[in-house]
Amino acid sequence: MKKIYVESLGCAKNQVDSEILLSLARKKGYEITDSAQDADVVVINTCGFIESAKKEAIDTFFSFRNALPQAKIVLAGCLAERYFDELELPEADALFGNHDLSFFPELLDKLENAECGTQVRLRPETDRTKSDCERTQFLSRKGSVYLKISEGCNHRCNYCAIPLIRGPLASRSREDIINEARALIERGYYEINIVAQDLGAWGSDLYGEGDHFTSLMKDLASLEGDFVLRMLYIHPDTFPVNLIQAVKENSRILPYFDIPFQHSWPGVLRGMKRSGDRETYAGLVRKIREALPDAVIRTTLMLGFPGEDEEAFDDLMKFVKEAEFDWMGSFLYSREEDTPAYSMRGEREHKRAHKQAALWQKELENVQSEITGRRLERFVGGIYTALVEEPIQGEDLAIARIYSQAPDVDGLTVIMGEGLKEGDVVRVGIRAVRGLDLEAVLINE
Ligand code: SF4
Repeated sequence: MKKIYVESLGCAKNQVDSEILLSLARKKGYEITDSAQDADVVVINTCGFIESAKKEAIDTFFSFRNALPQAKIVLAGCLAERYFDELELPEADALFGNHDLSFFPELLDKLENAECGTQVRLRPETDRTKSDCERTQFLSRKGSVYLKISEGCNHRCNYCAIPLIRGPLASRSREDIINEARALIERGYYEINIVAQDLGAWGSDLYGEGDHFTSLMKDLASLEGDFVLRMLYIHPDTFPVNLIQAVKENSRILPYFDIPFQHSWPGVLRGMKRSGDRETYAGLVRKIREALPDAVIRTTLMLGFPGEDEEAFDDLMKFVKEAEFDWMGSFLYSREEDTPAYSMRGEREHKRAHKQAALWQKELENVQSEITGRRLERFVGGIYTALVEEPIQGEDLAIARIYSQAPDVDGLTVIMGEGLKEGDVVRVGIRAVRGLDLEAVLINE
């Protein structure tokens, strides 16, 4: 039996793709291994939407290539898709585009039969949301899983390469999503993280304009079983306001909102092709918190986009102080070829702006980490449900997350208690804030 290993880079949506690749390989008779050293086939499932991700993808590819001269190495994912025609990488045994993963078994066939020294290339153009890509293999920790409800994006923000790579919005059908959610709950997953480029846009390509996402969330929340739903990424300009009420009425939908505002200054936002400003965005934050005082709000902000001057940065700082996000991620604008923003300024000007933006980013992060620490204080003294991620070997401690902590991106909760196992769902009392994490004790109710 041949063995396969997948190295998954990039975001949660790419992780779902890696899981689909593993599931398809398993169905074809491959054995899954978590050690690349043992694998006959190694797939590097890359990210490729900004400069640093592209660099990481190529570096990872070469470190595997050099360490594993015997293995067949497949370059897959966003980088392979984006640069499929231009990529000159004879060291790769195969290139695989990511539009329709159901062709992966065909790629494996071709790889098995390829003559030594020939590169297999396969880039299916069909829509994968219509294909059978059932997942039976998972890469998350026990108890937590990602559920992707659509591919691509119709927003076309001027800086973003994702629509170039993943294409326009292609939603999975309501029935398909609900069936998969049911199967995941039956497998024992407690935390189902709903992901897409923009959750709020789900369904508009299938069912016409309107807020289909809120009704999908209500349908998912009504399934039988012991589970919670976490929503990851909703575009602020098309935020479905009815969702707030739906969260209020359904305790299974966590009051956790990840809204990538990107900026607050109208000049910068218009350049990005986004329609908000500080007032409307802060208004949305207020509206959520008024209806849901326990709401946790995460955002992502971008520094260094063309048009960002001191006045724009001051406005952004004001926004961050006013909105008091629970969590904030920030990144520096990456000038991506083939995006409309690419020609907004030349390389020299971009580099100069980048330096300034890096300083502003530090300033912003310092302010935010103080806000996050303060926001965390409100959990102290409360009792919450926690999902155990990892017991700490040799100690009566475990790392876990409560509803305010999304996988991989936010802080953690350290629980003091005996015999905890990965995937356990337990009740904890929060005792203290430690940096950006929480400290808790196990409660037996
Ligand atoms: S909404 Fe997100 S994925 Fe879509 S174009 Fe804008 S930044 Fe890119």
